[in-house]
Amino acid sequence: MDVPNIVIVGGGFAGVEAARGLERALAPTDARITLVSPTDYQLYLPLLPQVAAGVVTPQSVAPSLRRILRRTELVPGAVIGVDPGAKVCVVRKITGEVVDLSYDYLLLTPGSVTRTFDIPGLPDEARGMKTLAQAVYLRDHVIAQLDLAAATSDEDERAARLQFVVVGGGYAGTETAACLQRLTTAAAKRYHPRIDPGLIKWHLIDIATKLLPELGDKLGASALRMLSGRGVQISLKTTVASVTEDKVTLTDGRVLPSRTLVWTAGVAASPLVDSLGAETVRGRIVVEADFKVPGLDGVFALGDAAAVPDLAKGDGSYCVPTAQHAARQGRHAAKNLAALLGGQPMTPYKHKDLGLVVDLGGHDAVSKPLGIGLKGVSAQVVARGYHLYALRTGVARFRTGANWFLNAVAGDDFVRTGFLAGRKGTLRDFEHTDVYLTPEEVAARTRA
Ligand SMILES: Cc1cc2nc3c(=O)[nH]c(=O)nc-3n(C[C@H](O)[C@H](O)[C@H](O)COP(=O)(O)OP(=O)(O)OC[C@H]3O[C@@H](n4cnc5c(N)ncnc54)[C@H](O)[C@@H]3O)c2cc1C
Repeated sequence: MDVPNIVIVGGGFAGVEAARGLERALAPTDARITLVSPTDYQLYLPLLPQVAAGVVTPQSVAPSLRRILRRTELVPGAVIGVDPGAKVCVVRKITGEVVDLSYDYLLLTPGSVTRTFDIPGLPDEARGMKTLAQAVYLRDHVIAQLDLAAATSDEDERAARLQFVVVGGGYAGTETAACLQRLTTAAAKRYHPRIDPGLIKWHLIDIATKLLPELGDKLGASALRMLSGRGVQISLKTTVASVTEDKVTLTDGRVLPSRTLVWTAGVAASPLVDSLGAETVRGRIVVEADFKVPGLDGVFALGDAAAVPDLAKGDGSYCVPTAQHAARQGRHAAKNLAALLGGQPMTPYKHKDLGLVVDLGGHDAVSKPLGIGLKGVSAQVVARGYHLYALRTGVARFRTGANWFLNAVAGDDFVRTGFLAGRKGTLRDFEHTDVYLTPEEVAARTRA
């Protein structure tokens, strides 16, 4: 069948919504839809901290792409380069085999990776919170620290194993510190009578002057009070100067003996963006308000990887990298592409932010739906209701709801899976940022 091939790169919030929208808007005789993704699920990242804390299981936040999509063809792999001139993607399958995939239209939605800085030791020691494997690994690692601390008679080692450092006071870092602090406190109380609870220390560090700046001053201050009340030590205007296997040195001069540094200090667009040789702003690919990449025929970009003009703000800024924008951009891009194929005009994307929910575990939460500031139980109800609504399949919603119920009545067993034992599990190990080709390498391959 000689129909245009639409290739979507990435099966996250933007990619999946685009594929669903295209399946609805176009008949199989209008276009072929192909989605390239290293995973066969759509990861619901906002609940990753709860996976790390064992409140929900990994399966609950990983709805199957095959359940969500009807006729989109799935290619299991990652696009490691794009030749926009030849209209070819270079795909590295999950087996390692590298193949070329031609497209007529390309939707780039590869999302983002953890943003790092030139800090000594960071690439080798920091653990991230961007993939399912990272969340599961972090859980294993934290539980292992408790087990090892309980088993050692060396007081220095015990203190270091019970001191945890999280960098990043946005929603990812704040939720991670909050959820894992609850895990360690509950685990020590229930299963480790030999551990002095006073030895368990959680630090939340950020270079900014406020926690959760996205929520405004009042709610950010509420979250700070909730966490401080639970014993989390929050240090603002501070970051990490260096890190080794057993200590974290902060820019204010403090040296924290610790075996755990969780790094959630922002995101950077997928390195795939660099292989196109297109214009970028702060690493994100520059697009027009209808997602077209200027100068590249048939190429669109959206989600975290793209700098989409924020027309709702109208101040020349770009949409912030959130699931809220990515999913809506995906739906809008599908409409635009269907319009383009039908000879109709495309329309610009405009969406006013609906707010943010931050679950700090237990009854602690802060949220700002439609500009209304909430904290405590009401915020928690809004947060959990929003997550259930936003999860893509009924099965995932049911699993997540059942997990919350079971965790509330029966608690956690605090067991390690052991699947990743023996691997350090650093950012590089899990985010595969070193597999991408340069524009020259792509051209040499596709035009050989
Ligand atoms: C811990 C955490 C909590 C968060 N909480 C919230 C929240 O509460 N509210 C909110 O709005 N946002 C939240 N976010 C941000 C939100 O998850 C992202 O903005 C959103 O996922 C971006 O969607 P996306 O489709 O651009 O990328 P993603 O959803 O990350 O999807 C990218 C997809 O592309 C795939 N991929 C990557 N590289 C390639 C490649 N080379 N080839 C093929 N496929 C590739 C990935 O495997 C993935 O499937 C949170 C993020 C984190 C990490």
